[in-house]
Amino acid sequence: MNWEPWTGCYPASTGCANCYFYGPTAKRYGQNTITQTEKFDWPVRRNKKGEYSIKGDKILATCFATDFFLPEADEWRKQAWQMIKERQDIDFLILTKRIDRFTVSLPEDWGAGYDNVNIGCSVETQQLADQRLPLFLAQPMKRRFVAAAPLLEAIDLTPYLSEIDHVSVSGESGRNGRVCDYEWILDLQQQCLAADVTFWFKSTGTLFKKDGLIQKVNPFKQSALAKELDISRLEGKKLF
Ligand code: SF4
Repeated sequence: MNWEPWTGCYPASTGCANCYFYGPTAKRYGQNTITQTEKFDWPVRRNKKGEYSIKGDKILATCFATDFFLPEADEWRKQAWQMIKERQDIDFLILTKRIDRFTVSLPEDWGAGYDNVNIGCSVETQQLADQRLPLFLAQPMKRRFVAAAPLLEAIDLTPYLSEIDHVSVSGESGRNGRVCDYEWILDLQQQCLAADVTFWFKSTGTLFKKDGLIQKVNPFKQSALAKELDISRLEGKKLF
């Protein structure tokens, strides 16, 4: 399930160039104004019986169609954190390309992090990994994952993996998706194996290079092909 308390976004880095939601060929192209959605208070909304509308024991992918740490949402995020704190029976997955803004509007009682929050940092290139991951690891959080997506080159995550719980990897989807080389993915898989970190090869993306050949993969087959290659090591973990 997804919770999108606000909508709208704009590029943060090279991985946003063909954003699935706001890129040049996406339906929401040009929707760069950040606005609250009608589901803003969804996690704490109650039905007529006084029960929460969303039952517990769920994973809520939060702001996967925008960014939780957008500056335009700084005030709203304070309320969002309160709702997240109230729903300890729900796991909130927050994926961001703006980890440098993590501390803005962070609740005073955050401490070592809320138990029900799992934060993901996106990295697309080595430069972005080296820029974002030290910031990411410097912040208190109970659970952390890295999304190497869209993977645009070989990345060495070795220096960071000892403090990361999980890594997922995807090529770039969409009509203009850039090439993703299977060698880069296998390399990340080996890094994760060596560091005993769970690894999920989620999607090949549109242009997938394997054995020296680039194939164009149908959007509906990108996840299936990644699964077919059978290199993920999840141990029951599949975050989003
Ligand atoms: S941060 Fe995410 S949602 Fe925002 S433009 Fe970039 S890829 Fe799209």
